[in-house]
Amino acid sequence: NEALGHGRAVEVFEAERLADAPWELSLHARIDEGLRNGDIWLAFQPQWDYRTGRISGAEALIRWNHPTRGFIAPDAFILQAERAGRIDALTYWVLEEAITAAQAVNALGQRFQMSINLSGQMVDKPDLVENFREIVTRRGIDPGLLTIEITETSGLNNRADAVRNLSRLRDLGFRLSIDDFGTGEASLAYLADLPSDELKIDRRFVSRLLTSDRDRAIITSTIGLAHALGQAVVAEGIEDEATFQLLAALGCDHAQGYYLSKPQPFDVMFRDYQARLGRHSKAV
Ligand code: C2E
Ligand code: MG
Ligand code: MG
Ligand code: MG
Repeated sequence: NEALGHGRAVEVFEAERLADAPWELSLHARIDEGLRNGDIWLAFQPQWDYRTGRISGAEALIRWNHPTRGFIAPDAFILQAERAGRIDALTYWVLEEAITAAQAVNALGQRFQMSINLSGQMVDKPDLVENFREIVTRRGIDPGLLTIEITETSGLNNRADAVRNLSRLRDLGFRLSIDDFGTGEASLAYLADLPSDELKIDRRFVSRLLTSDRDRAIITSTIGLAHALGQAVVAEGIEDEATFQLLAALGCDHAQGYYLSKPQPFDVMFRDYQARLGRHSKAV
């Protein structure tokens, strides 16, 4: 078959061309290739609800296992994707995959909230809201099951457009979360301007909760501030039992970290979640 033969030749040519090309210059094509062949995938890290004592959702975290470069850390390649003009494609791919995962877990019958990360570069884009609306409508998912974590990667370009987009996403029913609260620009200025439902306390404060009175004071007052504004609080990066328990005592709403589970491939997270559901219903 001539058409097939031709297709194979183009693929081989593409692969050879990419192998020799400078990394940054060929990143656009490399990302597309990674999305096509599964080298780029989503890991899921469960989130715990202190009030119900159950897993209530998960955060989708992008992964790239490159055949020659090995594992590429997401904060590094997200920045590169922004520069290479591929952050849009990545973001919509993440949303579609996260919806597939959310629908599979929600089919078990317990409400399961799925969080995705939205790069600061994306927040003010003119077509963002319409694209998100189109995707959730086509996929038939309640946007309330999706939490959008605003991640400050390179800062917000146009604050007014960002605020308008986020308000519209919230009006559509999406939950909004301010990621890495307390670091960089993700601080009081965000809280004053951006509509949000949730604050995520950055790992660097959580990791020093037991040893630093200052970090403990910062966390305590952040929880108070969030609650005064009607927002929920998630602590990220919880690695031990003592920190997990202390955050509960301080009134934190949700927990996430290696202590509960590392980010896992979907199948592993799903089996784990099912097993916990089973144990829970037996206990009742
Ligand atoms: P983030 O959104 O703040 O995600 C939390 C990071 O903390 C994740 O790193 C997670 O693996 C890590 N983590 C969670 N629990 C623990 C813990 O107990 N101990 C330690 N040491 N680390 C923990 P990861 O997966 O490397 O992601 C890094 C950052 O890359 C994310 O930070 C987020 O800003 C960005 N990112 C990841 N996926 C996406 C994506 O799909 N889109 C965008 N725009 N950014 C993403
Ligand atoms: Mg996040
Ligand atoms: Mg975070
Ligand atoms: Mg972080």
